[in-house]
Amino acid sequence: MKLGIVGLPNVGKSTLFNAITQAGAESANYPFCTIEPNVGIVAVPDERLNVLAEMYHPQKVTHAVIEFVDIAGLVKGASRGEGLGNKFLSHIRQVDAIVHVVRCFDDSNIIHVEGSVDPVRDVETINLELIFADLEMVEKRLDKTRKLMKSGEKKYKIEVEFLEKLKEVLEAGKPARSLALSDEEEELAREIDLLTFKPVLYAANVGEDDFAGGIENNEYVKILEELAESEGSEVMPISAKIEEDISALEPEEKQEYLDELGINESGLDRLVKKSYKLLGLISYLTAGEPEVRAWTITAGTKAPQAAGKIHTDFEKGFIRAEVVRFQDLIHCGTYAAAREKGLVRSEGKEYVMCDGDVVLFRFNV
Ligand code: GDP
Repeated sequence: MKLGIVGLPNVGKSTLFNAITQAGAESANYPFCTIEPNVGIVAVPDERLNVLAEMYHPQKVTHAVIEFVDIAGLVKGASRGEGLGNKFLSHIRQVDAIVHVVRCFDDSNIIHVEGSVDPVRDVETINLELIFADLEMVEKRLDKTRKLMKSGEKKYKIEVEFLEKLKEVLEAGKPARSLALSDEEEELAREIDLLTFKPVLYAANVGEDDFAGGIENNEYVKILEELAESEGSEVMPISAKIEEDISALEPEEKQEYLDELGINESGLDRLVKKSYKLLGLISYLTAGEPEVRAWTITAGTKAPQAAGKIHTDFEKGFIRAEVVRFQDLIHCGTYAAAREKGLVRSEGKEYVMCDGDVVLFRFNV
């Protein structure tokens, strides 16, 4: 799962990305991740893994991870292919969701490309480029589908109606995600692969003082929140500078520093957790002496497909899953005790996995 970090120049993207790579997980341990200079890999904080590690004393603890891609280089006119525009857009196409960094701090030493701090204008500048790119796609597809509609097939008629609706929204300068969609339309939207259909988290980069002194007083954040709400997105205040400082600290120092700031969790941890949610992800857990591990699945995934995350053979030869809720397992103290109490369930092919299920898959080879 990949998130792209976007934003205008000088808003704090690189600062945040530095924090991500410094605090980031050692990429060698995650062979399934992309390893490129503009990709940072971050472990998803999960206290449950520490608890399971105390129970199993495993050789290895493996967290779920999220990849952040630093997508720099957006300039006005990107959708018309100016500057690094096209490359920028193709990078965005490859991510599952977007973290849009917005400058919400005053600092006369840091030049703003537009001459002043104005979160709404900044967000609209970037969103407009994405909207233009989407509009072009929608118009092309509309031409094609209108021709196909002459065959009389109903599905083309439905698609044309949907594309017309999309076009209207985009032409009004709004992202596709601001439309409420039926399941059928959502599938179509995904197929068309629209940039503005991707979920967005607005990261409001506030000054260090703001962060300590109460974010409620930051007017920029308030304005940004209104905008986000209008398209069903969320805002997360973060201080890229503080995160950069924190990420350079050793774990004990980090806790001390957080205590000093009066916060119990780093912004990066919050960002990662929120991103996980934004993508509709949950984790199931496996525990044994070799390894305690969290596995990422989309909410709603059934047991065989979840097993397939470990190995395709697990999915093909799936027989059943032995499942115990994390809380039940901890409460009982051992797997055997949980089984004795009847808390280890045997689930079949139709079982929908829950966050925090501790699982043992049974399968044929
Ligand atoms: P990018 O162009 O979006 O990648 O922006 P950078 O991360 O390079 O940041 C641009 C400048 O703003 C750098 O000099 C940063 O040190 C500074 N900066 C970033 N975040 C903050 C912040 O929260 N407060 C202040 N005062 N400066 C910041």
